Amino acid sequence: MALNSVKEPGAEGDDLLDVLVVGAGPTGLLLGCDLARRGVRALVVERSHRLFPGSRGKGLQPRTLEVFDDLGVLAAVRAAGGGAPVGMVWRDGERQAEYRMFPDVPPTEAEPYTSPWLLPQWRTQEILLARLAELGGRVEFGAALSTLEQDPEGVEARLHDGRLVRARYAVAADGGRSTVRRQLGVGMTGEAVDPHPMLVADVRITGLDRDNWHVFPSTGDDFLTLCPLPGSDDFQLVARFTDGGGPDLSADGVRKTLAARTHLSAEQLTEVRWASDFRPRAAMADRFRDGRVFLAGDAAHVHSPAGGQGLNTSVQDAYNLGWKLGAVLRQGAPEALLETYEEERLPVAADMLGLSTRIHRGEAERGAATRQLTLGYRDSSLAVEARVRLPPEALRAGDRAPDGRPGRARLFDAFRGPHWTLLAVGTEVPVPPLAPETVRVHRVPEYEPYGVGLFLVRPDGYVGWAGPSADGLLPYLARVSGGAEHHR
Ligand SMILES: Cc1cc2nc3c(=O)[nH]c(=O)nc-3n(C[C@H](O)[C@H](O)[C@H](O)COP(=O)(O)OP(=O)(O)OC[C@H]3O[C@@H](n4cnc5c(N)ncnc54)[C@H](O)[C@@H]3O)c2cc1C
Repeated sequence: MALNSVKEPGAEGDDLLDVLVVGAGPTGLLLGCDLARRGVRALVVERSHRLFPGSRGKGLQPRTLEVFDDLGVLAAVRAAGGGAPVGMVWRDGERQAEYRMFPDVPPTEAEPYTSPWLLPQWRTQEILLARLAELGGRVEFGAALSTLEQDPEGVEARLHDGRLVRARYAVAADGGRSTVRRQLGVGMTGEAVDPHPMLVADVRITGLDRDNWHVFPSTGDDFLTLCPLPGSDDFQLVARFTDGGGPDLSADGVRKTLAARTHLSAEQLTEVRWASDFRPRAAMADRFRDGRVFLAGDAAHVHSPAGGQGLNTSVQDAYNLGWKLGAVLRQGAPEALLETYEEERLPVAADMLGLSTRIHRGEAERGAATRQLTLGYRDSSLAVEARVRLPPEALRAGDRAPDGRPGRARLFDAFRGPHWTLLAVGTEVPVPPLAPETVRVHRVPEYEPYGVGLFLVRPDGYVGWAGPSADGLLPYLARVSGGAEHHR
């Protein structure tokens, strides 16, 4: 795809980009993939000359694995990562106790992925970048956005080297210190979760097994943990500093910390591959949209890493926004559809912020909520439930659409791709003819996680509309995917 909307100052041209995505972190890369498979002309601009090198968000939650399944990267993620190792508490050089970081939850037909999957963030990003290239999208590295302006028709960004980029919409996926958010004047309200800084580093260590997530409690509230990172020889080292001073990020500084907090010697740490001084904050942008610009991922909300929600919530933002931009730009869906991005994602982010903070402070467990499978959009204006007298436990419009094999095919296979899926579950009620590139119809026998009825599953895997018959289906589709002309 020619993406020559990056121009020298003053250059002319009408090949307007659809979407400018600022930042090639997990949010921008995932959004890039989703837009590319929808035929949306998008460009991701990234300030750095290469992908971020650290392991940061290393825990992929089950719901994120489902998103990756839909985008065709799950096999690569599975091949490169591993399950969370059993925790091992050390004291005075002796192994004291094992413990499970996450409760064991057996997979079911409806929830095939139930445990977090460990993968260093740099590898997740590499996999997403490779997928983006396969889908025909691209990232321009070494291209920092300096300013952003918008008018009724589009946005205009100036890059650090003076080039101008014009697009119909822009997405700020440029992280917690988002330049775009500042350019828009959108506030970020929040608080420090922990006044004490943390050292987070990727290190190589000899003489320590890679079967456990090693935990070294110290006197007071300091601690040091070493988590083996699958698919590499690295450990992710995390240490908290309550003594008033921040961490020393030099290789010698990290070695000294290791030697002081564990039975390991400084020499056993052979390499520091990446180190950062991290101060956990919980903060959220005052709004997730300003005109033609959307905020997603860390640009919209920053969390404590406790509970492993940051990267995962960021990925879900992009997944929520991608199909909506695609529907408006490629299928002629009403612009109002884009209002539902903030409507749906802001409450989720607010809940996640509270949860991460409570886990960080030891006030909550890493329970079911952290897996993100129970998250949904029941209160959204896009959730239309036309059935009546449903039992309280029934699946409803707004809920995540469960997987399973009620018929010959697996439901996640039927959902995979950019289309909507109309599931007729245990019912022979007629459905109107629908254009298969927009909505695929799938008839299956009665299946307990769904009950009986028609379920219109959104491209992002949530039930958008549910009814006993197809009455009301076409008006709903007109709202979300561009009207009757798209349906045969
Ligand atoms: C120490 C640490 C541990 C963490 N642990 C976890 C965890 O266990 N689980 C979890 O889910 N999350 C974790 N997180 C959070 C996770 O790393 C973030 O939530 C995630 O990276 C957010 O992705 P993003 O794409 O929104 O932003 P980022 O990953 O920050 O990416 C933003 C990108 O935008 C680029 N950029 C910035 N400004 C500009 C500009 N002006 N122009 C162009 N490009 C620009 C940056 O270079 C960067 O590549 C952790 C974070 C940290 C710091």
